[in-house]
Amino acid sequence: MAEANMAYYTTRDPLGVTGDFITAPEISQMFGEMIGLWLAAMWDGAGRPADAIYVEPGPGRGTLAADALRAMARFGCTPQVHLVESSPVLIAAQRERVPAAQWHDTLATVPQDRPLLLVANEFLDALPVRQLVRAEHGWRERMVGLEGERFVAVAGDRPMDAAVPARWADAPPGTIIETCPGAAAVVAEIAGRLARQGGAALLIDYGYDQPATGSSLQAVQGHRKVDPLADPGAADLTALVDFATLAGVARAGGARHLGTMGQGAFLGAMGIAARASALARALPDRAELLAEAHQRLTAPDQMGTLFRVMGLAGADWPAGIGFDKP
Ligand code: SAH
Repeated sequence: MAEANMAYYTTRDPLGVTGDFITAPEISQMFGEMIGLWLAAMWDGAGRPADAIYVEPGPGRGTLAADALRAMARFGCTPQVHLVESSPVLIAAQRERVPAAQWHDTLATVPQDRPLLLVANEFLDALPVRQLVRAEHGWRERMVGLEGERFVAVAGDRPMDAAVPARWADAPPGTIIETCPGAAAVVAEIAGRLARQGGAALLIDYGYDQPATGSSLQAVQGHRKVDPLADPGAADLTALVDFATLAGVARAGGARHLGTMGQGAFLGAMGIAARASALARALPDRAELLAEAHQRLTAPDQMGTLFRVMGLAGADWPAGIGFDKP
């Protein structure tokens, strides 16, 4: 999955109508603006630290960064920009929208000595998952076979029982659990930095916030689900993000977990309805498109519920709009 996605992302811009899939920031500027408002409010509540930096892993075309930074600037929040991206094609697209940014291959080289205003949208879902399957006699890693069955439980003397959380230990044969060590490592690093450097982070993805079983691996090409093994490196591979586990990882790493909520409720709390009306008044011929985008981003049967927003913060930072009510 790691190799296929590396090949996939480094050779194309997958976003948009002519690409393979569309993300929230590409649906409407309102998405990035609401993120920018949240980050600016956090920054303001923390005493407006002048050295705070904007950090975004997996920034796609740079659309979210451009929209968020524009909204933040209206509050006097004009942070230095650090983008973490491995795709040369996407770096070129990001440079057009955020020319003053600095680029990094990994989070490791992002400055270690100042507060972070971090957002990642549809980044964690692209990181490789491992799957364990309950076989007749205990748990095994599930891997890709070269012939015959395409997904196979590793045979031989490598039981994985010790790696399975207690609640699933006695699950019936055939049960699959997924784990994403890459996402856990990224969240652990972000949490440690929030603890040491201060700051706030929003991690947004489609996923679940209660423990769950089953394979969620999927491949998308040309806006359609395709067979994940049919054409590796030419389709986007994703898995649902396990926010339950990541909240624990964030806490263990020293960050405050502000909460995890649906994207619709989060954008609602940030005032997306008022923003949609204001834009529609200013651009009457786009009113219908704006209403449609608002629906798509927030409706429970569209992106409003399946997409989750996880808020994290350093010790002395505010609770965060949307997460501030129990
Ligand atoms: N956040 C953007 C793009 C989402 S697509 C949006 O919402 O539109 C996933 C992004 O993560 C791309 O920018 C891709 O290049 C990046 N990405 C995927 N796997 C990565 C990895 N292993 N390391 C760094 N970036 C990665």
